[in-house]
Parts: sequence; structure tokens; C-alpha cells
Amino acid sequence: MRDGVWAAPGRVNLIGEHTDYNDGFVMPFALPHTTVLTAARRDDGVLRLHSADAGGGPVELRVGDLAPGRGPGGWTDYPAGVVWALREAGHAAGGADLHYESTIPTGAGLSSSAALEVVTALALNDLYELGLERQRMARLCRRAENVYVGAPTGIMDQTASACCTAGHALHLDTRDLSQRQIPFDPAALGLELLIVDTRVKHAHSDGEYGKRRAGCEAGAATLGVAALRDVPYEDLARALNRLDDPRVRALVRHVVTEDHRVERVIGLLRAGQARAMGPVLTEGHASLRDDFRVSCPELDLVVGTALAAGALGARMTGGGFGGSAIVLTDVPTTPTVTKSVLEAFASAGHAEPRIFTATPSRGATRLS
Ligand code: ADP
Ligand code: MG
Repeated sequence: MRDGVWAAPGRVNLIGEHTDYNDGFVMPFALPHTTVLTAARRDDGVLRLHSADAGGGPVELRVGDLAPGRGPGGWTDYPAGVVWALREAGHAAGGADLHYESTIPTGAGLSSSAALEVVTALALNDLYELGLERQRMARLCRRAENVYVGAPTGIMDQTASACCTAGHALHLDTRDLSQRQIPFDPAALGLELLIVDTRVKHAHSDGEYGKRRAGCEAGAATLGVAALRDVPYEDLARALNRLDDPRVRALVRHVVTEDHRVERVIGLLRAGQARAMGPVLTEGHASLRDDFRVSCPELDLVVGTALAAGALGARMTGGGFGGSAIVLTDVPTTPTVTKSVLEAFASAGHAEPRIFTATPSRGATRLS
């Protein structure tokens, strides 16, 4: 198929945090920020990769040589990993000239990595007429990130970038991967959803993630369920009584109440009551801070300051220990909230956060 230009968005998770490895529910939506790929097929088996956002010139790799652990490392592992995953699954992706340019902040928890993968898969799917469905591409992109890059991520990011639609959040069941598009158009309701990128990333996050994951698995084992998703919200009190370790109890309480918060948010959105989801978001933050213990002073400062300045709700989003928070506001309140957060960061001596409006946007697409 002819050469062209493709785009894939970053994403933010509205609600459903640390539920993905418990077979639970997540609800991301796509950002207007995208990674744009200009791609041309080449038939000599060479992959020529260049990014306007990474230092250095183009990198050339032979598709036949791609294998996990054999790449040069660095950013090219993401797109090279996608080509490897496609080929390993028996899809005849070959060489290409690939040039990337992105408006997604990297490392801010907004999934620039998934956008890079998904835009690559989409372009190769078209250039080599592979006929793959989006969910299939998302799974192969996840495999690229897990196996080729070596980052143990769930399926949410790639699915969001590939499958989201404008004006909707994506309700994803991480057990059976079924999905529902839930209408969410804040602007139409006089609301604004802000993203505050704290620009911090605390170094111990990987080890802490592993501990939370192990604690959740221990909780599920004690309760005799395959995953914490199988503990009904109605049975939570009884389940907690069966857990001796207070740390495991707190982890279980977060996961079960968080799955329930996803259901509550869907109910509110379907009823046209998006405004009322503010307190649910804030509850989610308290649960992540106090029970799951993955927040940090900068994220707590965003949430506390935004609420004091009149925001409807706020919470950290993503894995935690840094990254971004989301804040739901009535449009007229936005300038006050923004100003208060900037001032609070300045007086605490933190770097200036990046604040922008997140409009639920379309998923990956061919532009020309
Ligand atoms: P996030 O996905 O939250 O932005 P990650 O650490 O998962 O954070 O992924 C960021 C990495 O993805 C960057 O360090 C870089 O290697 C790669 N990356 C993402 N977007 C681009 C881009 N446009 N050009 C080059 N590399 C990119
Ligand atoms: Mg990522």
C-alpha cells in the first residue's frame, strides 16, 4: 500500500488504577497529543528509524536480525520491538523508513511509549496489508514492550491508543479484554479535565510496583480467588476480616473499591452526571495514597491545592510515585485552580508542573 502519515495518541486513565494486574477494570481516554509517523515501505529488509524527539541521527536495522536483547537499546527498541512482534506472530512486516514526531510529553505517565508502538503497528499493517484488527495490534505492541523493551506493562496503554474514540472513555475489562465506549465530553457539560504533569519520577517506583503486585497476589490466594477482581464489592468487609496482614488488607481494599469506583463513574457518565464524578475521583486518590501507598508529596500537593481552589475532584493517575494527576473543574474555576497549583509548587520549591486540558480524542488513525 502507498506510503503515508499515521498518528497515535497518548492516553490518561480517568479511573481504575492498579486494577489491571488484578484482572479488573480501567477507563482511559485518548489525548489530543499524538505521535505522528511518516512511513515509506522499502523492500531491502532495512528498518530506518528516526525521531525528531530523540537525539542522534537515523538508526538502521535489518528486520531479519531483530531479536530481544540484540537491539542497540534506547528508543528504537520500541518500534523495532513492534516489527519483531509482528514477524514472530507470522505477519510479513518488512523494511521501512520511519520518521517520528510527537507532542506527547515522554515519561509523564501519558503513554508516549504505547503511542510510539501503536503508530508503528498501524503503519506497517497498512504498508504490508497485514489485515490486523486493532485489539490484535495492541496485544502485539504490548508484547513488544514486555519482551523486546523489557518493561512489565499491562494492556491498557496500547489498547487505549489503538481503540479509543473521540468524546468517549474506554471501559476495558483487563480479564477478557472486552471493551465499551462510554460517552465522555467534558466541554459539552461546562467541565474541564486538566492534566498536571508534576515532572517528577521517584527512583524506587519499579521495586514498589513489584511489592504491590505480590501483595495483591497474596491477598487473592488467601481469599481463594483467581484475582482480586473476583471479590465482589458487597463481600469486601467479610473478605477483609479473613486477611491477617494489614498491608495486604489495605491493598485488597484499594483494588476492590477501585473496581467499584469504575462502575460508579460509568453510572454517572451514562446518567449525564459527569460533575458528580468529582468526589469519586478524589476518593480514588485517598485510596491510592493511604491504602495502596503509591502517591508522593508532589501528587498530594496537586490534589490538595486543586480541591482547596474549588476543583470538583482530583486524583493521581498512572502508576504513581510521580507522573501526572488529573483535576476535574467547572470551566470558570480553571484559571484559579491552575494558578493555585503553580503557586503551591513554586512555594514548595518544586519544578514548575506542566498543566493542560485533556479532551477525549480519537485513537490511532491514518492521516494521509
Ligand atoms: P511514558 O510512556 O509514560 O511516556 P515510558 O517510560 O513508558 O513513559 O516511555 C518513554 C520512552 O519512550 C522514552 O524514554 C523513549 O525511549 C520512548 N519514546 C516515546 N516517544 C518517543 C518519540 N516520539 N521519539 C523517541 N522516543 C520516544
Ligand atoms: Mg509507557
